[in-house]
Amino acid sequence: MSRKGKKPLVKRKSEKEARRSHDAEELALLETRISGVTPDNLKTFDDLPISKQTALGLKRSHFTTLTEIQKRSIPAALQGRDVLGAAKTGSGKTLAFLIPMLECLYRNRWTQYDGLGALIISPTRELAIQIFDVLRKIGREHSFSAGLVIGGKDVKVEQDRISRLNILVGTPGRILQHMDQAAGFDTGNIKLIILDEADRILDMGFRKTLDAIIEHLPKQRQTLLFSATQTKSVADLARLSLSPTKSEYISAHESADTSTPKNLQQYYVLTPLPEKLDTLFSFLKTHLKAKILVFVSSSKQVRFMFETFKTLHPGIPLMHIHGRQKQAARIDVTERFSESKYACLFCTDVVARGLDFPAVDWVIQVDAPEDADTYIHRVGRTARFDAAGRALLFLTPSEETEMLSRLESKKVPIEKITIKETKKRSIRSDLQALCFKNPEIKYLGQKAFVSYCKSIFIQKDREVFKFDELPTEEFAESLGLPGAPRIKFISARRANQLKNAVKKEDSSDESESDQEDKSRAKQEPAVRTKYDRMFERQNQNVLSAHYQNLINEEPAKLQSANDDEEDFMAVKRRDHALYDNEDDAGLEAKTDDTYFDPNAPVSKRQLKAALSKKSMLKYKPNSSKLVFDDEGKPHAIYEFQNEEDFHQQGAPEEQKAEFVLKESDKMQDEDVLDKQVAKSKRQEKRRRRKEREFAEQDEDDSGSDEQESQDDELRQQTQSKRARKWFEVDTESMAKQKRAKTQNVVEVAQPKTLEDLEALSMRLLSANH
Ligand code: ADP
Ligand code: MG
Repeated sequence: MSRKGKKPLVKRKSEKEARRSHDAEELALLETRISGVTPDNLKTFDDLPISKQTALGLKRSHFTTLTEIQKRSIPAALQGRDVLGAAKTGSGKTLAFLIPMLECLYRNRWTQYDGLGALIISPTRELAIQIFDVLRKIGREHSFSAGLVIGGKDVKVEQDRISRLNILVGTPGRILQHMDQAAGFDTGNIKLIILDEADRILDMGFRKTLDAIIEHLPKQRQTLLFSATQTKSVADLARLSLSPTKSEYISAHESADTSTPKNLQQYYVLTPLPEKLDTLFSFLKTHLKAKILVFVSSSKQVRFMFETFKTLHPGIPLMHIHGRQKQAARIDVTERFSESKYACLFCTDVVARGLDFPAVDWVIQVDAPEDADTYIHRVGRTARFDAAGRALLFLTPSEETEMLSRLESKKVPIEKITIKETKKRSIRSDLQALCFKNPEIKYLGQKAFVSYCKSIFIQKDREVFKFDELPTEEFAESLGLPGAPRIKFISARRANQLKNAVKKEDSSDESESDQEDKSRAKQEPAVRTKYDRMFERQNQNVLSAHYQNLINEEPAKLQSANDDEEDFMAVKRRDHALYDNEDDAGLEAKTDDTYFDPNAPVSKRQLKAALSKKSMLKYKPNSSKLVFDDEGKPHAIYEFQNEEDFHQQGAPEEQKAEFVLKESDKMQDEDVLDKQVAKSKRQEKRRRRKEREFAEQDEDDSGSDEQESQDDELRQQTQSKRARKWFEVDTESMAKQKRAKTQNVVEVAQPKTLEDLEALSMRLLSANH
């Protein structure tokens, strides 16, 4: 062993040295190639001065030709400069920052012992997941360890892994949480930070969080910022310690005629607010074979639309996503929508940025975007890379002129269209019926109404969004509500605070809002109204488990959000007293006097009830009922007979016997009557049972497609198709029988099981013989 063992050891050592010097040579070569690289001589990824590992990863992921932004920004980033990259949606910005990042670590010979080397920040969890997936694909040949930190998971689980990571992808709130809490999380070595959707991360919603993250980072580092709507603000650059002279602003489409993809056709339709749902429903009905994203301004509206449209069966699979869903549900919906060929996804701006759903045909904006940038990102979910796509914006008459001028100034080409009268369909009466039948839907409708009004009220651009011109009554009616819920305002300062909170919520970096909400919920004991208590009662059949789910969705968050909302605009929830028949009957008439205020010590209604005749009775002395004789004199109902009069009528024993006899006769007569009634009731019951049985038999005979009518429309279609097919076969065989033996007609019920089929064949066989 000693002699044999020594040789290989020496050999191994020299091999190692040889490899090291080879690597050094390769790196030196790479450095010289990098210093000479310019966008002009680049066409494919093979032309790039990058490591073999990255090149192979790209090849295996089927990327060959560089896009414009990749061509222009990768060389600068490889040369170590800070880059502000701007390029249209769907133009390949992700690779434009991931490739230089992998190369940066590679050229620094990063190993697992060097800790965290690169940080990628995304405004939403879904986008972080998507970036992480692309990184896993193109970085598979490298040996770096990468991790994803987004909210919605246990911090502890993430903490265990985080100290071993080289690359971290995450949302701002969660990244900061780890920086503050995880002992093994060393940020001192970081070489590179990347902000995808940089303008979003730099705006008000993330201001504090981002500034706190930056404090944890070393001053010497490279910074890459990417967005379709890039910031040029010097103040923003200063926050990131970027100097305008040393960082490079690279815009791939600055000279382009439009700021949106060239394969995107954009339209708008003039729709008064109360007609939006009708227009959307009509649109869906006429676009069943399409993949559609529908943007609205709040999660409450998403839920209302999803729940109501689901019951109206437009004929296209419906999905919904918003920032208040649980993380697992959000991931599930994102995956299902990505895989779907035809589907409609109701969503908030949580999916407005960066997401790369494959093959989206239409982006519909039912509620106008807050600004032109948001418009550009929303429509950018379609027409990605070189695919085509279409977008439709609903504008109300009061928004039209100003919004169009905002879009025009951002180089958005948009055409007006009108909807054919014949294609219009009103669902107003369906929604009214739904709200009437279903308390939960009405409750959601009220929430949706308030959220919409709130979203208009907090808009920055007052020239586009005119709160005072909202047709509230008609809007409430269009949602199926029996009247507009009342709205109460609070001070402008508080409104501003709320606006920031809302922005945060929709940006869905929930790790952050989660925390804040929870701590707020802890500080202020939540005000629970009597209605909340009623809803919580499990045994109330009027409130289904579904409502409980809605309530329980994310209790801490919902509660605090509701608190906010109540503060901000208190809904007069009197018509939410669904189970209070008195109130329900006079809903429209009694709007004001039934106002329920949780903060008031005694409500008006309680006061009224307390002062009612019935409840005042208990404060009166016992009363006795009187009857009046012919002369108008009062008598008690039961008056004792004078004793002398009584004795004059006969001996007490005789009188008693006579009374008993009379009463028993009366009893016998009553008994006969009772028996007759009982008998007729029994007969009636039997008759009804028989009727039911016959009806059931008839239903069985007529096939099962009728039963399905309330089920999913798509399923129903296939079901009836199947049924029709069966009947075709059936009539054929019957016709054959007729031809052979006209008298031998076999009546068949649609077979459901194998036994049914067997029985049927036996009958058919025997009929033929
Ligand atoms: P952006 O961030 O600019 O909106 P993405 O990076 O999400 O765009 O890329 C949009 C789509 O284009 C993705 O599906 C991506 O796989 C594809 N893509 C990006 N770069 C290339 C390329 N060089 N060749 C082919 N497809 C690409
Ligand atoms: Mg992107």
